[in-house]
Order: sequence, then structure tokens, then C-alpha cells
Amino acid sequence: MIQTNFRLFFTYVAVVTVMLCSIGFIMLPLVSGNDQIIVFLTLLGSFIIFLVIIYQLFDRYIKPVRSAASVAEELVKGNYKTRTYENHYGDAGRLSNAINLLARNLQEMTIQEKIQGSQLRTVIDNMESGVILIDERGYVHLVNRKFLKIFGKKTKDYIGYLYYDVLEEERIYKAVQEAFLYEQKVKNAFTISLEVEKLYIEIGGAPIFNEINELKGAVLVFHDITELKRLEQMRKDFVANVSHELKTPITSIKGFAETLLDESMDDDAIRNKFLEIIYKESERIQALVNDLLELSKLEKDEMHILYEKVNISELLEEITPIVQQPATRKEITLVTNLEPNLIIDGDFDRLKQVCINLLNNAISYTPVGGKVTLEVKKVVDNLHITVIDTGIGIPEDKMNRVFERFYRVDKARSRNTGGTGLGLAIVKHIVEAHNGTIKLDSKVGEGSTFSVKVPVNKKFILKD
Ligand code: ADP
Repeated sequence: MIQTNFRLFFTYVAVVTVMLCSIGFIMLPLVSGNDQIIVFLTLLGSFIIFLVIIYQLFDRYIKPVRSAASVAEELVKGNYKTRTYENHYGDAGRLSNAINLLARNLQEMTIQEKIQGSQLRTVIDNMESGVILIDERGYVHLVNRKFLKIFGKKTKDYIGYLYYDVLEEERIYKAVQEAFLYEQKVKNAFTISLEVEKLYIEIGGAPIFNEINELKGAVLVFHDITELKRLEQMRKDFVANVSHELKTPITSIKGFAETLLDESMDDDAIRNKFLEIIYKESERIQALVNDLLELSKLEKDEMHILYEKVNISELLEEITPIVQQPATRKEITLVTNLEPNLIIDGDFDRLKQVCINLLNNAISYTPVGGKVTLEVKKVVDNLHITVIDTGIGIPEDKMNRVFERFYRVDKARSRNTGGTGLGLAIVKHIVEAHNGTIKLDSKVGEGSTFSVKVPVNKKFILKD
């Protein structure tokens, strides 16, 4: 660039020199004496003036214009970092400044575009739903991370291929075709069977139009609604279970009440027996409703455990009279091993309920003459509450399920104990709300051990 500038400058100088020399050659023979010196000096003076003018012209106009032209060429090529000199005067200076401003704006715009592009990419990639973008000819242009997680394979297995060659599910084609055909939003759902689980996927498809309303492709969004379906199923099961649990005592109450009303009941003993059954069944309904209310309360504010300093000896003092009576009735020996001076952060009433539920179960599922032991001690930063019984035990394959709502190992026997099937679900909820864990060891015919661990201090989160 500098070389060509110099070449041009010297060309102009050479042209002027040739021109002045020619004038000199013509003029000098025509004059003589002092006139020759005057002509020569005039020509020399003109040469110097021309030299200055050419230099000025060159420096102020030709050089900046040429530099601006080459910067403009670089901009066309996409090199927005290029700049021209800025210290020029007049129109050439304005041109240089304008070119530099243009280059700066273009550079700024490309940076912004890059940032926006990467932001958009990040958003699309981190969306909780799968996304696929298909152009108007049916070629896949974009898939995000969630899409790959749902359908497997890698990005390169989709991009640039026709959607029907790379997608196996028929309902997806239908959604794409409908989006293209009717040019409107579509909704569909299907399931994908994986090795162990089944995924429920909802598709939402929408056509894409350009500014002049031409169809340019379609975007499909895949929502994984498996968790929602599971919750819906749980809710249905829950309603069915509650209705079933209520049906039995209500039928029984109705039946006995009708008998009492219909028949002239002379026998006081039978009448009392019937009334006793009605009373027992209504107690069962009451227990069920109380447990349901407790569960729903726990679920509503499970994070709002009312932390206070809980003195474990005081807590056990309140529990003993409640569990001692049924234990004595069944001639069960109740043993308590308590480490002295235990004070922990927790919710007094809820921890009390954990102990009562576990002890009541231990007593209910232990035959006459058995033994139930309650051990409470501190191990490092955790309080260990262990309830051991010598009862009927729980089969290994049912151990995980006993914490589910309404799950009973032996339905008939459990109902006879007056249990609602919600006791252990409540216990698990309370323990987990305290950041604790519950474990069960059991052997059929030998007994069960329920081990609860909760952090002694609120700030400790149990890691097991
Ligand atoms: P329930 O009110 O029926 O006792 P829970 O939720 O407390 O309901 O317990 C669920 C089931 O777990 C019980 O029905 C029973 O089959 C079993 N179970 C609980 N505790 C014991 C135990 N200590 N020994 C044997 N089985 C137990």
C-alpha cells in the first residue's frame, strides 16, 4: 500500500519534471543572457511549487481516499477490525471518519449478534423441553440438549437430514405434517418405552412464517410430562384408596344401624355389641380423617418445621403413658434405653408423633408376650431413634413399600389393629422434613427394626 502510494507520488513528480524540462528546452534557446537565468529560476521555482502542491494533494486527498477504499474492501470481506487514519482534514477527513465509524458499528453489531446468538443457544439448550427446528423442505436445522436426551443419538445424526429419516415416532411426523399442511399450531402426545420406565411426551408444533407470511418451516417442542402423569396417577390412586378405606367402616356402621332400627332388639347384649361395633368403626373413620389431615398439613408446610430445643427425656415422658397401656394389654415388655441430657433442634410435637407411630406399630405387630425396645442416642451430629420389636416382621420385597400411603403387608391383620395405613407415610414425611432418614431391617417371624436419624443441629444436613 505504502509502496503504491510512493509510486503514484513519483509518477506525478516525474510528469511535472518532464513538463517543466520540455518548457525549459523550448524557452531557453529563445532567450539569451540574463533572461536565460530568469527563465531557469522561474522553472525551478515552478518545479518546487508543483512539488509542494503535489505533496499536499497527495497527502490530503489521494492517500486518505485510497486508504478508505482499501478499508471498505476489507469491510466487504467481513474484516470489521480494520481502520483508516483519522487525522485528515476536509472532505477526505470526513470520509475517513465515516468509514471508521462504519467499521466500529459493524464490529459492535457482530459482537452483539454473537452474544445474542450464544445467549439464544444457551437458552434453547437449557430448556426443560426438547426442541427441533425443521425448514420448509423438511430438513432438520436445530435440535437442543433435552431433545437428544429424550430421543438419544447426537446432534450430527439429525442436522441436515430429512425429519422422517431420523425420527421414528409416527405421531411426530403427523405433528410436522399438520403444522405444514394446516399452517397452524398442533398438539399431540405419545409414549416412549425405555428399558425400565415409560416416558410420556407431549408435542407442541407451530409453523414458522417470514415477514411476507411465507411458510419457512416448523418448530416442534417436546414436553416430558412423565412426572405429571405419575402425580396424576398418584392422585387418582389416593382418591380411590381413601374412598375404599372409608367405604368399609361406613358400610358396617350403616348395616348395624339399620339392623338396630329395623328389628325390635330385645337382647340388650346384642344391641350393646352392635353399638360397640358402630362406635369402633366411627373411631376408625375419625383416625383416618385425622391422619389424612395430618398428612395434608405436612405436605402443605413440610418446609416449616417449627424448630425449637427438644429435650428428649421430656418427649419420652409424654409418650410412655400413651404406649404403655396397649403394651400392658398385650403383655409386651416395653424397654427404653435413653442417653441422658439429649437436647436437639426439632419440632417437639412431630418428633413425638414419629415415636408414637413407630412404637404403636411395634406393639400392634408383635404377638402377646413379645418385647419392644426404644433406643435413643446421639452419634456424632445425629440423633438415632431405634424401635426394635420381636414381632411378625416384614417380607424383604415389601420393606420399601410400607412407607407408601395405605400400603399394608397383611391387609386383614392391619385393619384389625385399627391402623389407617398412613402411620409410616407420616413418619417418613416428618423425618425427611427434619433432613433425616429412616431405615428398616426386618425378618419375617423374628421382628423389625426401624432406625431414624435426624441431625441434632438445624444447620447440619444429614449425609448418609
Ligand atoms: P398401619 O396403620 O396399617 O399400621 P403403617 O403405615 O403404620 O399403617 O404401616 C404400614 C404397614 O407396614 C402395616 O400395615 C404393616 O403391614 C407394616 N408394619 C408397620 N410396622 C410394622 C412392624 N413393626 N412389624 C411388622 N409390620 C409392620
